Amino acid sequence: MGSKKRKKQARTDDAANAVRPPRGTKENYGVPRRKRNPVIFLWIGAIAGILAIGIVWTAIEKRHAPETRTEAVEFPGFAQAQETGVPFAELQAKKMIIDVHEHLGSLDLAPVYLEVMDSLGIGKMCLMGSSKFTLTLDEKYGFTKVDENNEELLKVVHAYPGRFEAWVAIDPADPEKLEKLKHYITQGATGLKLYSGHGYITKQNEYIFHPVAMDDPGMFPVYTYCQENFIPVCLHLNPHKSKKGFAEEFAAILRAFPDMKMVCPHFMLSSIQDTRLREYLDTFPNLYTDVSFGDFFMKERLTYISKHPEKFKKIFNDYPDRFMYGTDLVLIKSPRQTKEWVTNQHKAYLDMLTKDTYTSPLIPGETLRGVALPDWLLDRVLYKNYEEFTARRPKGTEITRSIDWGRMNVTPTGRKPGQAFPPPPKDSKDENFE
Ligand SMILES: [Zn+2]
Repeated sequence: MGSKKRKKQARTDDAANAVRPPRGTKENYGVPRRKRNPVIFLWIGAIAGILAIGIVWTAIEKRHAPETRTEAVEFPGFAQAQETGVPFAELQAKKMIIDVHEHLGSLDLAPVYLEVMDSLGIGKMCLMGSSKFTLTLDEKYGFTKVDENNEELLKVVHAYPGRFEAWVAIDPADPEKLEKLKHYITQGATGLKLYSGHGYITKQNEYIFHPVAMDDPGMFPVYTYCQENFIPVCLHLNPHKSKKGFAEEFAAILRAFPDMKMVCPHFMLSSIQDTRLREYLDTFPNLYTDVSFGDFFMKERLTYISKHPEKFKKIFNDYPDRFMYGTDLVLIKSPRQTKEWVTNQHKAYLDMLTKDTYTSPLIPGETLRGVALPDWLLDRVLYKNYEEFTARRPKGTEITRSIDWGRMNVTPTGRKPGQAFPPPPKDSKDENFE
């Protein structure tokens, strides 16, 4: 600092023809170049040499160091691609995109998805088993008829081989849930969908999806089965502090089943409070997320990303292998849910991921900003991460880190394992994503 200041001072003083200090002092500013003490050149040479050695050493160390994701990149722009990527147009032409999160009401609607998939280059779509409430949004049904939808999804899988996966849902309160899951797997299901971290609260002030805690002992055989058979689990989680205990229940199961492959969708409902998302991803290596927001939050969330594209570029770049593609649509027979509607939903997400700016008929009158991922990172989100995630066979994963609850913006409750809390009063704000 001192020397920098002195150099600057020297330039200024040179320009102003400042009075020379007496010779022999350390303050050489103002002394014409040709008369400078040669010792200073020795010093400059020595410092330059040390710097050069330092740069070379750092480069060597980086090459041999294990890959770390904490070294964030400068913006604008990403770190140079760590791998080559297929350009987006080619990826679409070859139908390489894999969609990990959608819902479908019935077999006869599958062609709607298929047409959109073909037109946008989506090769495969994972369908999540849904309760009648998810399909109708009518509270009177609650978490019912999930087996019905599971069976329907299996029909879709068999009707269009290779194009769909069925991630069947189970009810944590169902005593036959494990037998049912095993049966569905033999019938071609490839994943499990759980809603037990969904914080939806009814008009009667009850949780629909949280009959027991996520770490209820009754669920352990299910987690054990998924872990031992590498069956991926998609668990909808709202870890906001208003859902008392949820963040801890989820962390408890990931700690108890460290090899379980888990995808927790919607940026883990932590796209605003991204330190919470980061804390989970930093702690649990087999945890993934997706970029979907669902029909009802799509406009709000894509608008939020549009206001903070750098924040999201950085998140994608910091966790390049943990995000997957999906939109979380629920397609049922409804006049609104046309092929155009499905297409526009997907286009908005794909534009968000691939472009600097875009418009969408679903968000009229606005020009939105996207994250414009470079090819190598886009490929990861659009198909590679799914391929790696499903191919993984985790064994002996060690969770050595403990969660920093402050970074989670959650105060631990001191709950006992398996303990479930009732919902907050129904007039309290439902803080999605915060
Ligand atoms: Zn969903």
